[in-house]
Amino acid sequence: MYRDCPTGKRCFDSEVIAREALVQVRARHGYSESEGPQNVYRCDICHAFHFTSSSANSLSPEEKAREKREREARFWEDKFKNR
Ligand SMILES: [Zn+2]
Repeated sequence: MYRDCPTGKRCFDSEVIAREALVQVRARHGYSESEGPQNVYRCDICHAFHFTSSSANSLSPEEKAREKREREARFWEDKFKNR
């Protein structure tokens, strides 16, 4: 669901959805551990969840493993697309 937030950040309805998107975005961009969005937080203004890059990487070991798997899957997808 789309919400307007003055921060201009992408809004997510729940923390679960936001964390899943965080893993996907990190995998897609191939960020190193300290780059890119690191965590999700509930916004005081719109009460949706947004990404934040300000805190230390908070991905659980399980989420990190999933990010890695997603990244490898995309790597091979791209290989096939470029042929
Ligand atoms: Zn907001």
